[in-house]
Amino acid sequence: EDTTLNLSNASVEQLQEWKQQLSAEYDNVLARKLNLDLTRGKPSAEQLSLSDAMDGILAGDYITASGIDVRNYGGLEGIPEARAIGSDILGVPVENVLAGGNSSLTLMYQTMAIAHQFGLAGEGSAWSQEGTVKFLCPVPGYDRHYSVCEHLGIEMLTVAMTSTGPDMDQVEKMIAADPSIKGMWCVPKYSNPTGVVYSDETVERIANLGNIAGKNFRVFWDNAYAIHDLSDNPVALANIFEACKAAGTEDSVIQFASTSKVTHAGSGVAFIAASDTNLKFFKLALGFMTIGPDKVNQLRHAKFFAADGALSAHMAKHAAIIKPRFASVLKHLEAAFSDNDLGEWESADGGYFISFDTRPGLAQKVVKLAGDAGVKLTPAGATFPYGKDPQDSNIRIAPTVPTVDQVEEAMQVFVLCVKLASVEQALA
Ligand code: PLP
Repeated sequence: EDTTLNLSNASVEQLQEWKQQLSAEYDNVLARKLNLDLTRGKPSAEQLSLSDAMDGILAGDYITASGIDVRNYGGLEGIPEARAIGSDILGVPVENVLAGGNSSLTLMYQTMAIAHQFGLAGEGSAWSQEGTVKFLCPVPGYDRHYSVCEHLGIEMLTVAMTSTGPDMDQVEKMIAADPSIKGMWCVPKYSNPTGVVYSDETVERIANLGNIAGKNFRVFWDNAYAIHDLSDNPVALANIFEACKAAGTEDSVIQFASTSKVTHAGSGVAFIAASDTNLKFFKLALGFMTIGPDKVNQLRHAKFFAADGALSAHMAKHAAIIKPRFASVLKHLEAAFSDNDLGEWESADGGYFISFDTRPGLAQKVVKLAGDAGVKLTPAGATFPYGKDPQDSNIRIAPTVPTVDQVEEAMQVFVLCVKLASVEQALA
């Protein structure tokens, strides 16, 4: 009996036989009334507990090394100790880092709103003065990036993600042809959701975009997973700040990161890193929004990570918890699809997601089949601007919250649903 599910060469009889077997398996799963969830790209409770010692760590000492009383107002750019953490994570000089509140998404929204309405290079630099504003979105990507653009009325154009980052030939061509493209979203390391790390060549070409783009072009470099490695010898991401300096395009890239998936997801510290000019105009606008960030929380983070190597030791504990979950997802995908063309995926060495592509036209169907069988998946299309995946093939798998046993069970159902949907499509 042929078990490889080679659909292209299968006879109708063979397809019907597979369908019957898979449907029977699916009925068995339905009867088990499962309740599993692979949608949530957030840390598990076990991971959150790694940072509980931050609570009370100040023990009544609220004064920073340079004498700042963190309980009081002020310090728009954050305390030096917190900025140093951002500097470490992003590889940017402390002077070019601002440590803010609990969310990098907020900093991204603020940066985009400021660039749009006021400009990041002073008088006359506001995008809104130039008519239609467009942004490049590598797909699949992070839905909240898209909602920021949508909310601010910025039109989105998609470019394909490859195994080395965005398709740079396409990016360069589009930017050279259309000066209304004012920027691009990037998740350069363990990209959400494909897990890809941008290659050195991609980083260099992105640093050079400022030389071919229209005025006031800004790449939003969201390095949310900069230190979220799963492997012991992770691929290094080239330093975009240095690359921009070399290309003479310092103003063209703005970087973001946070400790959301390092300490407590809801109460971490977020960072923006940028050129002197960008930071100056960002702070100018920020000063109208706040008198300063939560410096008490910043100092808690600084104390928690004060020892040499503390941050990387902490991230290794996260990796130890997450790794078996990722391994389970990959094991099931490999067992089910490595010898056929029912699906494609990248094996992520870090980050929070594994991205799976079904045969065209099947993502919604698979998500529905899995949902009906008690395995919740992120809605198909969520990884594309406006929620529309033109191929209807991308599905984002988030395995961090469920236990390893739950991931195992959910993945058995997932591969079954992919197989069943694929066989049914081949028969249709
Ligand atoms: N950027 C990316 C790529 C993410 O995946 C996430 C969360 O899933 C965020 C940003 C959110 O970051 P923050 O909690 O700092 O707002």
